[in-house]
Amino acid sequence: MAAKRRYERTNMKVLTTIADFRRERAAFGSLGFVPTMGYLHQGHLALVERARAECPAVAVSIFVNPTQFGPNEDYARYPRDTARDLALLEAAGVDLVFVPPVEEMYPPGFGTYVIQPAADEVLEGAARPGHFRGVATVVCKLFNIVQPTKSYFGQKDAQQTVVIRQMVRDLNIPVEIVIVPTVREADGLALSSRNVYLHPAQRAAAPVLYRALRAAAERYAAGERSGEALRALMREILAAEPLAKPDYVSVAHPLTLRELDQIGPEGALLSLAVRFDQVRLIDNWVLEPAP
Ligand code: AMP
Repeated sequence: MAAKRRYERTNMKVLTTIADFRRERAAFGSLGFVPTMGYLHQGHLALVERARAECPAVAVSIFVNPTQFGPNEDYARYPRDTARDLALLEAAGVDLVFVPPVEEMYPPGFGTYVIQPAADEVLEGAARPGHFRGVATVVCKLFNIVQPTKSYFGQKDAQQTVVIRQMVRDLNIPVEIVIVPTVREADGLALSSRNVYLHPAQRAAAPVLYRALRAAAERYAAGERSGEALRALMREILAAEPLAKPDYVSVAHPLTLRELDQIGPEGALLSLAVRFDQVRLIDNWVLEPAP
């Protein structure tokens, strides 16, 4: 009989209450943790694989967090398929999955939030009031429940990585944050659970985000240091795609995320939010510091 491969293990535990999760978690020492909102794709699985490679055991949470959605956003219609997600996580060799109902995370009387006022002034924070309050609060709660040694986040959500790192530093949370590169389709479109909303014509147009970012990165590599020149180039490429309606086009400082006139020795973060009718896509590209 062939040796049983690790990804064929079937002893993954799925817990829906905090008490049950804590009880099972106690059997493990060092734990890698991947928080998600489910409807998993290869981007999520890249985080799980990295955690598997670096940690003796891995926990994943699936929770569509209502507090990070605005009143006119897609919370109710956010795609969900927990059975499929669990099959993917089991095949990926995950040890613990936490899938709490909303009342478990936000029982009646819930009233404490983690806020970063500076994050709300730029990019996703400015475009989505309250979004990062919801993200930081739920991730803080999940860290307290899961007690991970390392936690894995995607570069896809660039501002989220900045917010989480700052929260961990400011609140002295004993976890190491690991950022994993963005996983893309062959045509450059960043994988996202929201891509399923795109109609075929919108899907065909969506790689324009990647093309705009790549063109700006190439211009930077060729020596351009003007933030406005790079923003103008990205706007021009987006404008050539009639289905794409830019929300913001940014060349920002990599840590403060403030818009840059000139890119300095610290490099920059290029980022975009673009609407295709009701579907809002984001993507970004890190311009590494150049000599
Ligand atoms: P979400 O389920 O959208 O909250 O995402 C859960 C985690 O997966 C977050 O840390 C995301 O940044 C990360 N993620 C989402 N899409 C990708 C992608 N295409 N590549 C890498 N990581 C991703």
